[in-house]
Amino acid sequence: MPELAEVEVVRNVLNNSLKGLVITGIECRYKPIIEDDFAYFTSKVLNKRIVEIKRYAKYLIFILEDGAFISHLRMEGKYFYVLENEEISKHVHVIFHLSNGYKLLYADVRKFGRIVYKPTEDIYNTLPLSNIGVEANNPEYNRTELFKAITNKRLPIKTVLLDQSIISGLGNIYADEVLFACGISPFTEAKCITLEQIDLIMNNSLKILNKAIENKGTTIRSYTSSLGVAGNYQNFLCVHTKTICPRCNTALSKSKINGRTSYYCPNCQK
Ligand SMILES: [Zn+2]
Repeated sequence: MPELAEVEVVRNVLNNSLKGLVITGIECRYKPIIEDDFAYFTSKVLNKRIVEIKRYAKYLIFILEDGAFISHLRMEGKYFYVLENEEISKHVHVIFHLSNGYKLLYADVRKFGRIVYKPTEDIYNTLPLSNIGVEANNPEYNRTELFKAITNKRLPIKTVLLDQSIISGLGNIYADEVLFACGISPFTEAKCITLEQIDLIMNNSLKILNKAIENKGTTIRSYTSSLGVAGNYQNFLCVHTKTICPRCNTALSKSKINGRTSYYCPNCQK
């Protein structure tokens, strides 16, 4: 699944390619991907210029000259920017024809991704973005609020870090890496987390996500970024998918926590 760092890499490439182009045609081959009524979506997006591509947590925001559409890649969503005459695969569900002879393809093997149009004033204050917690790499988080939200939960801290309404942008890979960097066991009950540990979690999230973005994300398992970008952050992972602790050489443990495979060092993480 693409996480914040991978979505940021996609955003950056899309922004460089699409800025200033006009959407001259839209085709949708699998209706549920576009949440709006297709005629409504088309009336809002067709013939509009793409001003820029932004990102908020794991969402891409295509800012148009009037309004925006928000795209969530979910498990397998990918964008491809290709010449108009390029053949397309059966996994391409949405095609945006562009004013420069190229087209933007949205492909999604699992079909879980979603695209929705928003008027400018509703982008951040309606769902899905209104329900998104502070970004994990935002250095200006409100520690008291975050402390309240986290310690209010009687769940393992790993599970709470994956709750996008509390902290957004940490997925399974980076949550494991952040907890390792903090020396916190993923099983620790969230209500036992201290104010100091909140700072530790946020400082390490900032460091790890920014380093992952610099290295164009992580390319493991099924998800590889589209647009010819392969990430290198897998070379910097300390625990996720690993077997030996890089700090103390103990064998790492692997457990399911709320259904998500979690890697941790039983010696370094308490
Ligand atoms: Zn260790």
